[in-house]
Amino acid sequence: MATNFLPFALPEIGEEEISEVINALRSGWVTTGPKTKQFEQAFTEYLGGGLECLAVNSATAGLHLALEALGIGPGDEVITTTLTFTATTEVVRYLGADAVLVDVNPVTLNMDVTKIRAAITPRTKAIMPVHYGGLACQMDEILAIAHEYGLKVVEDAAHALTSTWHGTLVGQLQSDITVFSFYANKTMTTGEGGMAVTRHPELAKRMRVMRLHGMNRDAFDRFTSKTPAWYYEVVAPGFKYNMTDIASAMGIHQLAKLPRFLQRRQYLARRYFENLAALPLVLPADALAGDEHSWHLYVIRLSTDAKVTRDDVIQGLSDRGIGTSVHYVPLHRHPYWRDMYQLTADMFPQADAAYQTMLSIPLFTAMSDADQDRVIAALREVLA
Ligand SMILES: *Cc1c(COP(=O)(O)O)cnc(C)c1O
Repeated sequence: MATNFLPFALPEIGEEEISEVINALRSGWVTTGPKTKQFEQAFTEYLGGGLECLAVNSATAGLHLALEALGIGPGDEVITTTLTFTATTEVVRYLGADAVLVDVNPVTLNMDVTKIRAAITPRTKAIMPVHYGGLACQMDEILAIAHEYGLKVVEDAAHALTSTWHGTLVGQLQSDITVFSFYANKTMTTGEGGMAVTRHPELAKRMRVMRLHGMNRDAFDRFTSKTPAWYYEVVAPGFKYNMTDIASAMGIHQLAKLPRFLQRRQYLARRYFENLAALPLVLPADALAGDEHSWHLYVIRLSTDAKVTRDDVIQGLSDRGIGTSVHYVPLHRHPYWRDMYQLTADMFPQADAAYQTMLSIPLFTAMSDADQDRVIAALREVLA
């Protein structure tokens, strides 16, 4: 490995985040408290208001809370894409429900909306679109189908903080609940963390209770309220999904930097488009005109005229000190999902073909133009 290894992703954490974390540590309030309240409020404002935002300790936790609040349970089915991270569907299994996977559109790599109707059965309760790489799904079609069949919609927006659909930020669309991730490589990070967003007060209420052991008052409420601090009531067997103030301290400053982060990601994506256009590659689909693509991922695919395989490209880049990743080994290829639902590759021809030729190349706000030039030069060599 080269000494100056360029990873596939790195977070950009500044002095503001560091001092705020120190401030949280010194304050004595390290679990969910004032900084989490502040982060949730700032997040609500970022999305434009009219919503409730609940900070959680991962997007996985947020997705679990979302489906639980919507009453998804044993025997129910939830439709989603095979080209996603297992977190999207594992939460369905937590609740004893079944994930029904559909193939992707070969251009966008998002869930193929024309496949949704055929996947609906009398047991279907919800659709979970995943905005792959930060490109928003065709939400008006998905919402129309959901409305027609009386289904719930939970957006797995782990990639899509800053993305828009028809000019509206993901998080403000008409789905029931949207969940963002603040994992280390996402568009902003709190180390680990996530945010569940809804415009429905009753769903917010259920998620708030289930986020903390099914207790009807959290520690901060008990600390600040006039009724005795020791008293709470357990109304359900809840979970332990609250975000710490240490994480929220990071989140407050990462959120403030989001507009700059987005600009930088979009600038780097433009440069890839310009400099990779002549290579035997299928470059990722851009957002619709007037919309924002968050560019969480820049996923390239080898075109049929490429003389090397995907694995050769990954090895060639690695030999040149450049990290890559693959998003994703589709769920239908993982033993658990494959065996659970008797899935085969020919049920998902588009996702399976994309998987075999795809790789994600470095794109993160802290990479320099010179770092990116290295990736471009290395790709030219490897694909020559
Ligand atoms: C990262 C990711 C998640 C899970 O996010 P965590 O915050 O790590 O739990 C879920 N879905 C997708 C598509 C992701 O990329």
